[in-house]
Amino acid sequence: MTTAFKNHGHDHGHCIEQALDWAAAKSTRRGVRLTPIRRRVFELVWQSHRPVGAYDILEILKGEKRNAQPPTVYRALDFLIELGLIHRIESLNAYIGCSDPQLAHPSQFLICRDCGIAAEISDKRIDGAIAALAEETGFVTGKRTLEVEGQCPNCRGGANHAR
Ligand SMILES: [Zn+2]
Ligand SMILES: [Zn+2]
Ligand SMILES: [Zn+2]
Repeated sequence: MTTAFKNHGHDHGHCIEQALDWAAAKSTRRGVRLTPIRRRVFELVWQSHRPVGAYDILEILKGEKRNAQPPTVYRALDFLIELGLIHRIESLNAYIGCSDPQLAHPSQFLICRDCGIAAEISDKRIDGAIAALAEETGFVTGKRTLEVEGQCPNCRGGANHAR
């Protein structure tokens, strides 16, 4: 078993710091600006390993008196997706921070129905199977993200049961 699902008691501050480093590096490399609002939206997407909805982000920003409107949030989210820093989880209509934004990659998400945590997997075997299937059927693939619902190891109980 891999460590795709972090223990509930892990140091999440470290995850956020690392993500902010990635965001800064990627913006610099692409020559785009990580404005304060983009940075704050990115931080809010990274507040946990649970996908977060645009309106949840908007509510928090309003609480911070940032005078944010829905288009502001959607534009920031689009920017972050475009840079490969976050992904959209279609089945939940929500967003999650990319666990490894250095390189473009196919994603599969394992989403826990109990705690809501989504783990990002980038398994080349799965993507290879999709590519082979596409070739067999003459289908040209677009977005190849897979979303799988179920129960994570933390919620199944066992050694690292702590919440
Ligand atoms: Zn974390
Ligand atoms: Zn990713
Ligand atoms: Zn869970």
